[in-house]
Amino acid sequence: MEISKAHVAILSSPGMGHVIPCLELAKCLVSHHDVEVSFFVPSTESSYHQTQLLQQSISNTDDLHVIILPPVDISNMLPIDVSVPVRITLIVQKSLPAVRSAILGSPRPPTVFISDLFSTYGFEIADDLKMEKYMFSTVNASVLANMAYSPKLVQQVDGETLDIPGCKPVRIKDLGGRLMHRNPENFQCMSGHIRNFVGAAGILVNTFEDLERQTLKSLSDDNIRRKIPIPPVYCVGPVIKSDTTQSVEKLDCLTWLDNQPCGSVIFIAFGSGGFLSAEQITELAWGLELSKQRFLWVVRPPQELTNDAYLASGVGVNNPSDYLPDGFLTRTHDIGLVVPDWVPQVEVLGHESIGAFMSHCGWNSTLESIVHGVPMITWQLYAEQHWNAIMLTEDIGVAVRLANPIETGVIGRDRIEKAVRLVMKEEKGKSLRNKAKELKYSAMRNMTKGGSSYDTLSELVKTWEARAAAKE
Ligand code: UDP
Repeated sequence: MEISKAHVAILSSPGMGHVIPCLELAKCLVSHHDVEVSFFVPSTESSYHQTQLLQQSISNTDDLHVIILPPVDISNMLPIDVSVPVRITLIVQKSLPAVRSAILGSPRPPTVFISDLFSTYGFEIADDLKMEKYMFSTVNASVLANMAYSPKLVQQVDGETLDIPGCKPVRIKDLGGRLMHRNPENFQCMSGHIRNFVGAAGILVNTFEDLERQTLKSLSDDNIRRKIPIPPVYCVGPVIKSDTTQSVEKLDCLTWLDNQPCGSVIFIAFGSGGFLSAEQITELAWGLELSKQRFLWVVRPPQELTNDAYLASGVGVNNPSDYLPDGFLTRTHDIGLVVPDWVPQVEVLGHESIGAFMSHCGWNSTLESIVHGVPMITWQLYAEQHWNAIMLTEDIGVAVRLANPIETGVIGRDRIEKAVRLVMKEEKGKSLRNKAKELKYSAMRNMTKGGSSYDTLSELVKTWEARAAAKE
């Protein structure tokens, strides 16, 4: 059959944890697989960093069209304390008419539609316009399997473990009791997405085999797939941010890193919406100071975690001396740098002076750390981060588990000090550091020609090209 360039529409949810990997997938399709991509993203005017990121990408190549959808007003449609997935889902739903008209107005309309986890209602456009539907999972395969199986999990409410066919059982207490099927509001929202993605032609997952061998094997087994209703899974990761940032923050913190010894700095950051309480910030500051290790810490004012925070990163006054312990900045001046709010994380993790990453274990942060061979300290806060922390510490062995903040409340300075010293320099942490190096090479292999993730995406693109040719 004649080959024709595939044109793919990608609809990202708002929020950096979605926009970054979806945009990177788009760039990867354009630059490595000769695909044309129309990339749609709802506006969130409150996120300074999201706006910056998209503006940088708007003009990059002829085959990548970044379309920022007009803002939608949902302020009167939901209670103020509604959860992040519900809020994001509604923003996407309200943005769909603009996506539909852009696709209809395209001189060469896309034939493939890719949603992310919270934009699956876009499939109604794909169905109407006879486009092939895929989802790009920005969570890992184990979390995805849990989601797909969750309608059947209601029976397991009182059990000690969560038993998903073909997957390693997970202790419910390690998830802090935060099970999707125990939260009616989230469960209803996610049930809609699950119904939608189960009907897709396939799911592209941002992971790779060395991270999730058992789960991935199970998800390709027909017997298991009869129990977990999931379409074919394509492992295409690790897809992480690849280009460099042109900003002032970059100059300051990367210049500081240039002046530190190789592997000597622990990097601390909690994603786009992670906040700590005042008491926890004090303990963390003391833990770092007592560890006597060099550090780069992305700090935010004390705040309880809220639903707004996730979509509103980069807003507000942030003066670290207002909330860090008295004298901390002066005492640690020679060994530490605190940066308010945001740094170019991928470039920081790729800097040779970084020795470890204390992270909230968002999946993008996790992959970014692994790609750069950096061992981790897990400090999970919300969403599926608990799963990721268990996987990193118990299955993969690339991280030390600090504590489960949900169980322990505030994590004390002594625990923090010990974890930092262990991952950075002690003999006991050597296996984590070695594992991180090993995974770095495996991640790299997967993403280059001949590697499993690269070739999987290549094969998929060939089927899209054949379909595009058939339509022309
Ligand atoms: N990020 C960044 N600078 C920061 C904090 C976060 O560039 O100071 C980026 C990070 O590199 C990652 C994304 O924001 O790509 C956060 O995604 P993740 O899945 O780790 O967590 P989420 O923000 O969704 O909780």
